[in-house]
Amino acid sequence: MTKLVLFILSLICIISVTAQLTPAEDKKLNELLKQMTLEEKVGQMTQVTFAVIAKGGWGDTEGNIDPAALKKAILDYHVGSLLNVNAHGFTLDKWHSVIKQIQDEAMNSRLKIPIIYGLDGMHGQTYTLNSTLFPQNIGMAASRNIQLVNQAAKVTGKELRASGIRWNFAPVLDIGRQPLWSRFPETYGEDVYITKTMGASAVKSYEEDGLKNVTAVATSLKHYLGYSGARTGKDRTPAYIPEIELREYYLPSFREAVKAGASSVMVNSGEINGEPVHASKYLLTDVLRKELGFQGVIVTDWEDIKRLYDRHNVASTPRQAVVMAVNAGIDMSMVPSDFSFYELLLEAVKLKEVPMSRIDDAVKRILTMKFKIGLFDNAYPEPSAFSNFGKPEYQQLALDAAHEAMTLLKNKNNILPLSKNMKVLVAGPSAQSITALNGCWSYTWQGNNEQWYPADSKTILQTIKDKVGEKNVFTNTVTGFNNTANYDISSLKRNAANADVIIMCIGEDAYAESPGNTRDLALPDEQLELVKAAALTGKPIILVLTEGRPRFITNIEPISSGILLAYWSGKKSAEAIADVLFGDYNPDGLLPFSYPKSMGEIVMYDRKPTEEIREVFNDNAGGGYDPLFAFGHGLSYTTFDYSDIQLSNSILSGDEKLTVTITVKNSGSRDGKHAVELYTRDMYASITPSVKRLRAFQKIFLKAGESRQLNFTIDKNDLAFVNAQLKTVTEPGDFEIMIGDKKAKFIYK
Ligand code: BGC
Repeated sequence: MTKLVLFILSLICIISVTAQLTPAEDKKLNELLKQMTLEEKVGQMTQVTFAVIAKGGWGDTEGNIDPAALKKAILDYHVGSLLNVNAHGFTLDKWHSVIKQIQDEAMNSRLKIPIIYGLDGMHGQTYTLNSTLFPQNIGMAASRNIQLVNQAAKVTGKELRASGIRWNFAPVLDIGRQPLWSRFPETYGEDVYITKTMGASAVKSYEEDGLKNVTAVATSLKHYLGYSGARTGKDRTPAYIPEIELREYYLPSFREAVKAGASSVMVNSGEINGEPVHASKYLLTDVLRKELGFQGVIVTDWEDIKRLYDRHNVASTPRQAVVMAVNAGIDMSMVPSDFSFYELLLEAVKLKEVPMSRIDDAVKRILTMKFKIGLFDNAYPEPSAFSNFGKPEYQQLALDAAHEAMTLLKNKNNILPLSKNMKVLVAGPSAQSITALNGCWSYTWQGNNEQWYPADSKTILQTIKDKVGEKNVFTNTVTGFNNTANYDISSLKRNAANADVIIMCIGEDAYAESPGNTRDLALPDEQLELVKAAALTGKPIILVLTEGRPRFITNIEPISSGILLAYWSGKKSAEAIADVLFGDYNPDGLLPFSYPKSMGEIVMYDRKPTEEIREVFNDNAGGGYDPLFAFGHGLSYTTFDYSDIQLSNSILSGDEKLTVTITVKNSGSRDGKHAVELYTRDMYASITPSVKRLRAFQKIFLKAGESRQLNFTIDKNDLAFVNAQLKTVTEPGDFEIMIGDKKAKFIYK
């Protein structure tokens, strides 16, 4: 009997390793590998950007391919992959013709190996005009709704595939624990559990149909590892992260997403503890390949092999940089604007600086991905995928996601929801901005060009007019976030005289990557002055914050009656904002990060006990966890009450499971959704335990007056931490469970 079980288990293991390809594909792959020259192999490892094949190179704005440049890339340099656009997204038809031209040329090559094209579909398919844009990950995290994450990923995948693109450079799994970082909006916030569950779930959604299906795309987990931890918060600058912290906070999302079956991983452009990740054999091969068991393709980020030489200065020649990276475990180089990688790697192999086995290994992984995704069956845009672009129901999904992202931070004297009979002054720079509602990766890289957004995109001003009627709305705002008219205080005062309430739309305009670097999280003075001037009119102020990261509002919070954090929530942001303000949607978003008061108060919710200490002799120095709004905060127009917590047992032994039961009641007068969060505290441990850690959440809908019993199941893995020996362990002892204001204790043995 035991033998039979072992036999079946070993069979399952063998099948799961080779399950990636059919036997016929496996055979074809091995035959190809045998036939390929070194040049063809190194070419497969080369990825270049669209500018390399464009008429006029970087000057091209319309996606016109130069046939001679295309031939050179594919036939002379045998490149295996392309990425990106130059200036802005293409129409669906344009993509079809671009991909067709590229694959036609690939079919002229000796071995007819198709090209894999990769794009950043970060919150929807960024680079196809009229695609559906959803909230940035930070807003999806606020929704605490895994199903929404899955549905949005599915639509993004469908719209990519409909465009002829089968490789998505998403999801971002960097944890958002440094709010200065310009890529904070692309993260799921500061919590490990949210990041790992939403990230892995998105990966499944993108890939689970089976990559041959026209609804699926291969994913790329970004950006392995520690990218978000830059000390100064500036993009691509050094992080100093002890390994215990790296494993506790940064690695889990990648571990889970690898388990979920991700096809590729993109590497962090930065360095950790002085070692650029692109040169780290330890992180790429020992941890990612061996420990996490990742089988797919490891691709560099933009120009990062060159940068080992010209930025990080760990390689003394460009060739040494290539040798370091490939030997560390890189399979494909996003070169991306020339063929230097190809030439240098050829040289290095001939000089035996890179073993042939490493090249074969990399090429095998790249070809496996191409087989898996069906490129060898049909490399062209698939007509059966086209109708999956722009389906009307995606608009509703975008609205649902934007609704659930909305996070109501303050509602003094229940000023919200506003009555639709009110006279409203709409003020602030984002009142008439589409870009400040969508943020990065929106039809252009920076997302800051209104010209490319769908014609039916609405501004906050428009959706408020839709609610209360044009004649009841006053404004002195104009299009253009930075237009000085948006900061004109005298016209604001004049208009305020006619209004019952001021809706003040402030925050950040779109930015991506290093252009979003900032020295300070304080809002620009002109925005603060505007709010202060509005307060002097005596009319109540509702702040609407359109921003990708927490910008300090500490000084204007006391003078604001309501505060709605809208993040950058995509196509339907403005509709969702107006629905919440005027009560057509009952808000349910919860903060996915701690909203700090100031630079000196940036403390995460899962702080250590000693971060709570206030020394009596220096109370002015502050301390403790004292954000303006705590992680998990978010108001509703109704109220939810929790029963006491019931545990299935007061002792959890070994591998057993503990069932945690609680009844939630909507005790208010409005229907509403609500995310119930379960936290645990390890009371005593060998490594100082956190005050609390999120371990589970469930999002429910309750009608006014309705109650529901919820069960959560936890086991020892949910209580584990990384110890001083860098092992993930659960130590026996006392634990506490917290749900809302309720607590229960148990012992783990
Ligand atoms: C970004 C990546 C992105 C790549 C290709 C890089 O600058 O860091 O996230 O996938 O560009 O656009």
